[in-house]
Amino acid sequence: MGHQATEKDHGTGGCYCGALRYALSGPALIMGQCHCRACQHVAGGAPQYFQLVAPETFSWTSGTPQSFERPDLPNAVTRFFCATCGTHVLTQRQDQAELVLKVGTLDAPGDFHPRVALCHAQAQPFHLVADGVTVFDDIPQRG
Ligand SMILES: [Zn+2]
Ligand SMILES: [Zn+2]
Repeated sequence: MGHQATEKDHGTGGCYCGALRYALSGPALIMGQCHCRACQHVAGGAPQYFQLVAPETFSWTSGTPQSFERPDLPNAVTRFFCATCGTHVLTQRQDQAELVLKVGTLDAPGDFHPRVALCHAQAQPFHLVADGVTVFDDIPQRG
């Protein structure tokens, strides 16, 4: 059997209640965890596990996300979440094209392997970083 490239190859996911569903048609570009205080807020105190995906490889397949931007921040990110159950699914930063997908919303999060730990200067003493993960104090500039 030849390998057929399908959306399933790159994952599907959704929110906790199932109202929001999405599909990925391309690979994760970067897998990592972010220790910043904002991520601690939305992740329940832990670092937030994320993967960057190209916007053209992400599509909502069910439901319409609610979005939020902090009006008091000059370069606020846009956070997309389920209006019914509140699950935070996706973040769009103003300074990068790639979308920041929350790994916990994947149907198969076990395929995730973090490679970078960002904003580690804001990490809590109970945060863990696996062996082999490259640690950055902040968010390094890319390319
Ligand atoms: Zn939901
Ligand atoms: Zn963060």
